[in-house]
Amino acid sequence: MYYVIYPIFEGLFSVSFQPELPDLTFENIHSFVFLVLGEDGEAILVDTGFPTQDVRGTTFSFHKTPQQDILVALQQHGLAAADIPYIVQTHLHWDHTANMQRFTHASFYVQAEEFRSLLQLNPNEETYYSPSNWMPLLNRIHLIEGSQEIKPGLRLFLTGGHTPGHQVLEVNTRSGPVILGGDLPFNYDQLWKMVPEQFWTWYRNGPGKKYYWDPQTFKSIENWLRTSGHYERPAIEKMDYQAVKKSGKRLILSHDPRLLKIPRIPE
Ligand SMILES: [Zn+2]
Repeated sequence: MYYVIYPIFEGLFSVSFQPELPDLTFENIHSFVFLVLGEDGEAILVDTGFPTQDVRGTTFSFHKTPQQDILVALQQHGLAAADIPYIVQTHLHWDHTANMQRFTHASFYVQAEEFRSLLQLNPNEETYYSPSNWMPLLNRIHLIEGSQEIKPGLRLFLTGGHTPGHQVLEVNTRSGPVILGGDLPFNYDQLWKMVPEQFWTWYRNGPGKKYYWDPQTFKSIENWLRTSGHYERPAIEKMDYQAVKKSGKRLILSHDPRLLKIPRIPE
């Protein structure tokens, strides 16, 4: 089966840690989610966007017009939240998982590895996630181990990299396979070198305090993984960024401003 992909622009956000760390600034990050429409009329979403509160940093802002609200944007395609049966979460970072709870009828595909890796988080990386986006939805989260076809012409691949359980969705289109690659090429190695340890102590006790997790969250995730049979890591194959690049398939990323000029794929 073939699909058409509609990149949905949901605005810009900026996060900076001024004046404490003037170099640690992410400005006007373009953010996209993707509507994947099958020839059978079924609509699938990839990621659910960033929040309009709770942008993490010491100086933060966002720009989102009312039309860029995810549900308003879907209305332009004749779709309501309840028309979306499945949502693929490339990973669980806060800027990809806001709005999940507005999709009251959806099941969510997440790699089990993403949840397992949360149990071994670098404490500072707790601030990259908002458990409140998805903890109330565990009974609607469908855990995936590695690569899996979710519908004819739609296949998930575990890539790791950006987060240990990061996944991408390969979509069969009339112009060939397209990989919706989330944040695949980005990693934080360089970032961590820019951030002195005393900064995190200061941030943890000050402006970042509310972004650290309740210890109960870790216990709940662990219990859920155990009862669902996903606590132990099976031998799973990954398709990392290098492998995706080598595949020669078209790669579409979540924060690429060039998508503003691409209303649909195939064009
Ligand atoms: Zn991310």
